Parts: sequence; C-alpha cells; structure tokens
Amino acid sequence: MYVSQGELLYAGKAKSVYRTDNRGELLIRFRDDITAFDGAKKDCFAGKGTYNARISAFFFRYLEKHGVRTHFISVCEDSSMIVRALKMIPIEIIVRNIAAGSMVKNFPIEAGTTLSPPVIVIDYKDDAKHDPMLNDDLIITLKIATPDELREIKQIALQINGILSEYLAERGIHLVDFKLEFGKCEDTIFVGDEISMDSMRLWDANTGESLDKDVYRFEKGDVMEAYRQVAERILADQES
Ligand code: 5GP
Repeated sequence: MYVSQGELLYAGKAKSVYRTDNRGELLIRFRDDITAFDGAKKDCFAGKGTYNARISAFFFRYLEKHGVRTHFISVCEDSSMIVRALKMIPIEIIVRNIAAGSMVKNFPIEAGTTLSPPVIVIDYKDDAKHDPMLNDDLIITLKIATPDELREIKQIALQINGILSEYLAERGIHLVDFKLEFGKCEDTIFVGDEISMDSMRLWDANTGESLDKDVYRFEKGDVMEAYRQVAERILADQES
C-alpha cells in the first residue's frame, strides 16, 4: 500500500515517525540503524529495519487477533508501517520471565533464574537520565498515569506476555523479557512503538543462544544472522 510520507515529526535511535495525509495516522520507518548502551554503541546493518518492521507488524496483528488494542493499522513498504497517532505515555514497561540484563546487573539474582510470576519493571523514558526505574507511587504522583490506567497497562502487558511466550515457545524460543510502550487516543490505551528483536530478549530453547539485540550489545556473533533466524521461525507460518 502506498501512503505519502509527510513531515518528519520525530527521529529516534532506530525509527523515524512521519505525518501522513490522514490526520490521526502516522508512518513509522524502521531504519537500519542499531544502537546500544543509550546510543554509545552505533552501527547500521542493511536490512535490519525490514526485519524489525515485519516482525513488529506480525506481532501487532497477532495481538489484535487476540483482543489486544495496538496502534498498528497496516504495513506500508518493506520497512514502514502506518499506525494510529497516540499521545505516548513516557514509560517503558518491561516484562521479565527469566532473570537477565539489568536485573542481574543491579540485583542479587543469578542469570537464567525463572521468574514466576513474571516481574514487571517500569522505567521512565529519558535517555539523558538513562531511563530511571519508577514505581507505582512515583507514576501516580508525577501524573504519568492514573491508578486505573496503570492497572490496565500492567494487565495488558501480562496478557501480551502470555500470548507471545506461548507463540514463541512453540517455535523453540524462550521469551526472556521484552519492553512495551503505550499511548492514548481519546482516553483509550493502545500498545505503541514496536515489538521486535531490538526490544526483546529471546533465547533459543535448545542451545540458550541469544537471538536478539544482545548479540550486538555484547558482540556474541552476527546480529543480522540472529534476526534472520527469528524472522524465519516466526514468519514461516505467515508466508507458507
Ligand atoms: P534491560 O533492563 O535488561 O536492559 O532490558 C530488559 C528488556 O527490555 C530487554 O529485552 C531490552 O531489549 C528491553 N529494553 C529496555 N530498555 C529498552 C530501550 O530503551 N529500548 C529498547 N528498544 N528496548 C529496551
């Protein structure tokens, strides 16, 4: 589908957001840029934007089928999607099923520990301050979200965790943790941003190998090969 790309509204570390001819709809372009450690490490890999756009589109459609409201409207070109314009809530909701990453770095827990029930961590979205961790009282005091909104956001995050964990497990992948962002349109909460290998930790269920941005962060191998493998396993159903 062709949609004309209007004014650039926002350029993040790996995505750019543009106006479209339709009020209330935006175009998100997934660029080939990849960054880690708040942008301290940067590279560009041809085709990476297309992988993330396709995987994100797939997950958003899959979640919509399971009754989750997302901002996804349609795929536009290989590396772009059309989305509902949202007023974004400046928090990152991280759902953790297995201890890894900053949880292991910051707290006394061994990497690989199963977290049951899953742990939700909420960070304030501010790169300059290194996305500091929030708690419910702060979120409410700072009027980032109302108590009802916060409850709904957490409930949706756990619902998504259930849906995606099961889907990925059937394809031999452990969903270790992932990050979601939410926004509002006329007081209704939608999942926004992206759901891709840039925002998830995925481990091969047999080998324990990372299949996500950790491959790039910690120089564990060829990140594009890891993304290709995930795309192949996840998109196989769609394309068969
Ligand atoms: P951690 O807190 O361990 O660094 O990250 C937990 C999970 O959330 C990982 O899957 C990571 O990719 C994701 N995540 C956390 N913060 C960000 C962020 O600022 N951007 C992206 N794309 N993902 C994030």
